[in-house]
Amino acid sequence: MDFDDTPEERAVRAEAVAWLEANAKRTVADDLDRMRTHRAHDEAHDAELLAEGRAWQRRKAEAGWAAPSWPVEYGGRGLPPLLAGIFAGEEQRFDVPANMFSVGVGMVGPTVIEWGTEDQRRTHLPRILTAEDVWCQLFSEPGAGSDLAGLSTRAVRDGDEWVVTGQKVWTSAAHYADLGILLARTDPEVPKHRGITAIVVPMDSPGVDVRPLRQIDGAIHFNEVFLDEVRVPVDHTLGPEGQGWSVAVTMLAHERASIGGGGMYGFDQVAALARSMGQVDDPVVRQRLADLHTRFEVLRFLGYRVRTAASRGELPGPESSVMKLAVSALYETGGDLVIALQGPAGMLSGDDAPYRGAFVDLFMSQWAPRIGGGTDQVQRNIIGERVLGLPREPRTDTTLAFKDLPRA
Ligand SMILES: Cc1cc2nc3c(=O)[nH]c(=O)nc-3n(C[C@H](O)[C@H](O)[C@H](O)COP(=O)(O)OP(=O)(O)OC[C@H]3O[C@@H](n4cnc5c(N)ncnc54)[C@H](O)[C@@H]3O)c2cc1C
Repeated sequence: MDFDDTPEERAVRAEAVAWLEANAKRTVADDLDRMRTHRAHDEAHDAELLAEGRAWQRRKAEAGWAAPSWPVEYGGRGLPPLLAGIFAGEEQRFDVPANMFSVGVGMVGPTVIEWGTEDQRRTHLPRILTAEDVWCQLFSEPGAGSDLAGLSTRAVRDGDEWVVTGQKVWTSAAHYADLGILLARTDPEVPKHRGITAIVVPMDSPGVDVRPLRQIDGAIHFNEVFLDEVRVPVDHTLGPEGQGWSVAVTMLAHERASIGGGGMYGFDQVAALARSMGQVDDPVVRQRLADLHTRFEVLRFLGYRVRTAASRGELPGPESSVMKLAVSALYETGGDLVIALQGPAGMLSGDDAPYRGAFVDLFMSQWAPRIGGGTDQVQRNIIGERVLGLPREPRTDTTLAFKDLPRA
């Protein structure tokens, strides 16, 4: 592809930058002081971040920048992915609240556009854009993560309602989400991929019990969600009954693509840290910095590749697995390097640590992209089977009814 802007791209970029200049402050790429604004996690601070994030999301929605790739009738600009991605790329150069709505905007929105009824689109999409409704993804269970299709949360039809019972886990944002897309088993008599249905569950429904999981860094990011005879109207079904696996595939493809989309930090900040620690002349440090820089660049080009495929109307496919692996490797390389650069200070965490523990949090958060949205090993399986054409693992679970599968 040609990396210079076409006249069309130049016009979109100019409009995006003009809007961002008028609404936010540009950041200096190697500004280490910005890292000092980092704050250790506590509930009050998290609530402030959510309010700031919502306000920023609303402003973007009013200007048509919240989801530029969505059709105009649902609040987007109808831009092809290459043009739509320009805004997000430019936004990273500005000091704006962290994006806390990637599940809604990046994953649920495109899934509702593809699978929802017209009524569901009109109900949900505008509220996703403005972050009026925050969404979560009720997929993983204690016994079903990588093997997601082995899930056992049940939804049983009772008149016009589903009655849902089961347990989900690692549900990001469930503690402040308004709605969740739930995968439930609705037919255990057929093979496991075929008996699943996707259902939109209001998180304030009686019988939904959200229990936050506190992480090693003090943050609460995800939750256990217990569902005890939760009644949900049947018209909350997303996509046809029994085709929840296809709905999930759509959502997971968008999840992988959105995990590849943004970064928590840039290369320039790591280089500035090395400089401030007087380490840029060390040949080993230089080599590690060059490695990190290369990974940032590779990721940028992979991003173009994913968006080019999407511009041709292709669903993000194996490219997004390659991209997700590249993100994991970047976070691993970068996380390890920022700790090494700080020497003994790299062991300190909390508000009184150097840079208020921002780099230590970066180190500890490297495991999130390496596991969430499908682990590195699972991405390698996808690439092995679908890109390299290697033989599939022998399986016995594609023909037997779910109820007859041996399970722990
Ligand atoms: C930050 C974060 C956010 C998350 N948010 C959500 C969310 O919002 N909603 C949600 O539903 N889930 C969420 N998850 C859960 C996530 O999708 C699962 O953790 C992930 O799919 C792995 O499943 P598991 O934890 O059950 O691990 P397992 O599937 O039990 O895997 C354990 C280990 O075995 C390996 N393994 C498993 N199967 C294979 C195989 N076939 N070949 C090779 N190796 C294999 C894995 O790679 C891993 O190393 C989140 C996870 C994280 C880390």
